[in-house]
Amino acid sequence: MLDRYGRIIDYLRISLTDRCNFRCSYCMPQEGLQVLDSSEFLSYEELLRIIKVLGQYGIDKVRLTGGEPLIRHGIVDFIRGINSLGTIRDIALTTNGSLLGTMAKELKAAGLRRVNISLDTIDPARFRRITGRDELHRVLAGLKQASAAGFHHVKLNVVLTEEVGEADLDFFIAEVQQNPVAVRFIEYMPIGRQPLEAGTGLIQSVKARIQVRTGDVLQPCFPVGGSGPARYYRLSQSQGWFGFITPRSEHFCQQCNRIRLTADGKIKPCLLSNTEFDIKKALRSHCSDQEIYEHFARAVWAKSAQHRMGYDQPAGEIHRAMVTVGG
Ligand code: SAM
Ligand code: SF4
Repeated sequence: MLDRYGRIIDYLRISLTDRCNFRCSYCMPQEGLQVLDSSEFLSYEELLRIIKVLGQYGIDKVRLTGGEPLIRHGIVDFIRGINSLGTIRDIALTTNGSLLGTMAKELKAAGLRRVNISLDTIDPARFRRITGRDELHRVLAGLKQASAAGFHHVKLNVVLTEEVGEADLDFFIAEVQQNPVAVRFIEYMPIGRQPLEAGTGLIQSVKARIQVRTGDVLQPCFPVGGSGPARYYRLSQSQGWFGFITPRSEHFCQQCNRIRLTADGKIKPCLLSNTEFDIKKALRSHCSDQEIYEHFARAVWAKSAQHRMGYDQPAGEIHRAMVTVGG
């Protein structure tokens, strides 16, 4: 599928649930969230039908996100189902990692290819402050199991809301030096009326501190594992990579290749826009495959040239909280 700016859209990001076992301060509204009744979710059968139809129009990458995708029952069989369609060459997952310790092996066996794990800190007190949960040990166990399971590139997502701590920096540097892991620092996005907590200077700061700490120079390198938004760098002796994702200070919209689907069946042309197209109603009134394609084609055509966050868009103008879309 091509959008009106000539970008090829070959990547579908699916939020499987708006529920989560964590309460990250930058993702969940502070006043709490009224979660959807699970009957509102697109069923796995409905999702497989969508993926099958879009596979005929060039969608060959799927990422499962949420909320926390691993708390939705049946995800392993769903991945197996995507795999058996034969059109999706890359099935990926973004997770908080807390359930990977027990699930990594079966996810890999079902056909999951890549895993991104969100981990902002290895300091238990800070972890608790950010996520509202005392589960750092489970996330670290999940990281270990994911690395052992043999996924094609494990990536760590680190959202920057404040300066990275010294011990955290040492941990991320050691991960990158010793393992084929990509550690990606992400600018905080003030969506879902979250207050603006962090400036955009944190990316430059962590980049500079990595170089001082290692006495090395970060060298730009090819993208790791696909065509995502991160700009990647290597240290001279490292097995892994550092990535920097800068939606606010330096947007990457010209390379956008994705479209999103929320758990309750809204197609979103862009994370940072309030425009949505409902596919659930059509699915539940027995629409044809052609109609499914047309809904997505309309959403692809509605993609704007670039988002406005960090430019002329006020913080909090995006209504949905991140947990209901999937970052
Ligand atoms: N629960 C899973 C997880 O935490 O990885 C998947 C869903 S989470 C919404 C997806 C990604 O979005 C995570 O890497 C998370 O850190 C990131 N994220 C959440 N809120 C964000 C925000 N306000 N700005 C930037 N990234 C955010
Ligand atoms: Fe849950 Fe992920 Fe949002 Fe944290 S970032 S609250 S783990 S969905």
